[in-house]
Amino acid sequence: MSDAPSPALHLDAVVIRAATAAAATAHAPRDLPNLARFLMDVVAQESGRAYRLVDGLQLAVAVAERLVLLGEEGCGKTTLARACARLVPIHAGAITVAGVDIDAAGLKRRLHVRRMLHVIFDDPEHGFDPRRTIERGLLDAAQALDLTGGDLAATVRAVAAKARFPVDALREPAGALAAGLRARAALARALVSAPAAIVIDEPAARLDPLERALLLEALGGLARNGGDDAPPPAVLTLTQRPDVARALAQRVGVLYLGALVELGGPDLLDDPRHPYTRALLEAAPRRSRPTTARAIAGELPNISERPAGCPFHPRCPDAVARCASEKPPLVGAGRAVACHVVNGT
Ligand code: SF4
Repeated sequence: MSDAPSPALHLDAVVIRAATAAAATAHAPRDLPNLARFLMDVVAQESGRAYRLVDGLQLAVAVAERLVLLGEEGCGKTTLARACARLVPIHAGAITVAGVDIDAAGLKRRLHVRRMLHVIFDDPEHGFDPRRTIERGLLDAAQALDLTGGDLAATVRAVAAKARFPVDALREPAGALAAGLRARAALARALVSAPAAIVIDEPAARLDPLERALLLEALGGLARNGGDDAPPPAVLTLTQRPDVARALAQRVGVLYLGALVELGGPDLLDDPRHPYTRALLEAAPRRSRPTTARAIAGELPNISERPAGCPFHPRCPDAVARCASEKPPLVGAGRAVACHVVNGT
C-alpha cells in the first residue's frame, strides 16, 4: 500500500477513536458519492501522558475529487498519512474507503484495502531499489498486490503514461533517475491497482519547479484519466505549500495542530477567513510579492502541548477573551470556519 519511510514515531501507542458518522458527513461534498471518509482522533500515549496528534478530523472525499489539506510542518499531516497506511497501531478504526474500514480484519480484506488505498510518502527513494529498473519495481508492486492476471506489461505502460512517466525510462535503474522521475514513478506504482483513493504527503518536496509542475500536472490529470474500467481515484494531498493547493485543489482544508480550522473551495486561497489561514497565506512567498511575505507571529507550539480553547489563540491577532478557554467548532455551509470571531458566536 505504501512507499513508507522507516518508522520514526517514538511513541508507546497510538489510538484512533471512532467519530460519529453524522459528524463526518457534515462537510461532505453534496453532489458526489463519498468514497473515502476520514473520521479520527489520533491520540499518542507517551511516557504515561496522552495527547492528540490529530484532533477530531472529519472528512469525506468523493470519487475523482482532489482535496488538499494545507498546514505548517508539525500540524499533523504526516500522522494522518501514516494512519492511512496503518503504520501506527489502530485500536479503533474510523478510516473507510468505499465503505471498507482500512483496519479490516482478515487477509483477503486487507489485500482488498491495500489495492483500494495507496499512500505516497515524502521519500527521496520512494521505496524503489536503486539497482533495479522502474519497470521491475512496478511489476513487483503488482505481484505484491496479487495482480497476476491480465497483461501486466501493458498495465505498467498504462500507469506510466497516466503518471507522465516516460516509457523509454522504464528500463532505467531507479538510482539513475532524477528526483522528479522517481516521484512520478511512485505515482505510477500507486496507480497499479487502480486504487479508489490516493493519499500523497508533500508531493512537491525536493523537486525543482519543472519537475514539480510535471508531477502536479500528472496528479491533476488523474481525475480525467482514472482508467478504462475503473473510476478515477479520490486524491487527498497533504502539503505546506499553498502553490500546490492552488494547482490541485477542488476543495481545501487547513490544518492547525492536528485540527481542521477552515474548509472550502479553491476560493479559500484568495479569500481566507480564519486568522490562521490568513497568516499562513501571508507567510507564503509568491511570485507577485516575493519580498513582502510576513512570518506567522509566534512559534508553532509542540503538538503535545496544544493550548486550551482555540489552539491558535496564543498567536492570533484577533483573539478575544473566550478564545483562551472555549474551543470553536467548525461551522458553516460551503465555507466552514472554526473561529468565534469569524462566526460571530
Ligand atoms: S477563535 Fe479566537 S483565537 Fe481562534 S482564530 Fe478565532 S479569533 Fe483567533
